[in-house]
Amino acid sequence: MTTITVKASRTYDVTVGKGLLDTVGTRLAALLPPPRTVMLVSDDCVFPLYGASTKASLEAAGYTVSTFVFKNGEASKNTGTLAALWSAMAEVPLTRSDLAVALGGGVVGDLTGFAAATYLRGIPCYQIPTTLLAMVDSSVGGKTAVDLPEGKNLCGAFSQPLGVLCDTDVLATLPPAVFADGMAEVIKYGYLGDPTLLAKLEAGIGADLEYVIARCVADKCCVVEEDEQDNGRRQLLNLGHTGGHAVERLSNFTISHGSAVAIGMMLSAGIAVATGLAEGSLCSHMAAMLKRYNLPTVCPFSAALLAEAALSDKKRRGDAITLVLPTALGESVLYKVPTSELAALFLKGGAPK
Ligand code: NAD
Repeated sequence: MTTITVKASRTYDVTVGKGLLDTVGTRLAALLPPPRTVMLVSDDCVFPLYGASTKASLEAAGYTVSTFVFKNGEASKNTGTLAALWSAMAEVPLTRSDLAVALGGGVVGDLTGFAAATYLRGIPCYQIPTTLLAMVDSSVGGKTAVDLPEGKNLCGAFSQPLGVLCDTDVLATLPPAVFADGMAEVIKYGYLGDPTLLAKLEAGIGADLEYVIARCVADKCCVVEEDEQDNGRRQLLNLGHTGGHAVERLSNFTISHGSAVAIGMMLSAGIAVATGLAEGSLCSHMAAMLKRYNLPTVCPFSAALLAEAALSDKKRRGDAITLVLPTALGESVLYKVPTSELAALFLKGGAPK
């Protein structure tokens, strides 16, 4: 078992290891002792697998447990599900001494985190991520959100969790494509600033999931501690995401987030090489790494379409865009470019004309 302490606006532990799910009750009791009511939130894929054992552990520790289960998938991460969850919290009723527990992937974590951050102006939320992506990325760092019809994650709040529990055993039931999506984010941490992790990924992760997840969490934690509100260094975590979000949107979300980020990382590496910031071997290194973990490397959309989609991102600031470019194995920089140059850069980076 590995514990990483995140020192952000709230200090909390991220605990990673095997067989931890059954310990959630006692772990939570050490943070917010019962009697209290827990709103256990999950989706209809995860709850049948892990809901009963989580609920039993919470009840054995002395909590009263209410449950809210919604349909799995990104389409549920909306204001309708959020409002239904707020209402369920009010019906119990949850008071300010109660809490929410998110059991699921990034969709459950983001939605529950935002509901908890806003219900009664904020109640605590404990995260139990069940996908690789949620363990290494979404459950840590305090970004919570729901999607609007106008775009992804447009309504949300910064709100750090009470704690995060990553039981690596639950990854055994993940569909391979969802596991590969998480690997894209793992590989991202390697290229953006962790040569040791890259070497481990090159050698093969084998049974060392705990090490790999803990390493990614520690990497994210370092960046979040320096720039919690995402105004500077935290943008490094967006390696592959400018191109990636554009690919996701252009595919009408038929290309998964992880696959899109993989393509976006390849574009970033291509741009870095074309602008003289990196050596050509970085691209072949990255392509081999992504292929090894069943991720795509070739961009199916033209540079012009990519730029148009990237620039329609409502979270963009002003008439410049900051790209994250890998400069060497385990090193990257923020690279600000005028929006007018983006299409040409994507072209240089390897996107088709
Ligand atoms: P997800 O939550 O949709 O989960 C993917 C699928 O796997 C779902 O069908 C889910 O039911 C299923 N699943 C989850 N755990 C399982 C398990 N252990 N066994 C079997 N099936 C399981 O997707 P995700 O990739 O975890 O998260 C994506 C979301 O995360 C997006 O909404 C994205 O915006 C968000 N995100 C947030 C942050 C952040 O900082 N808050 C960072 C990255 C991504």
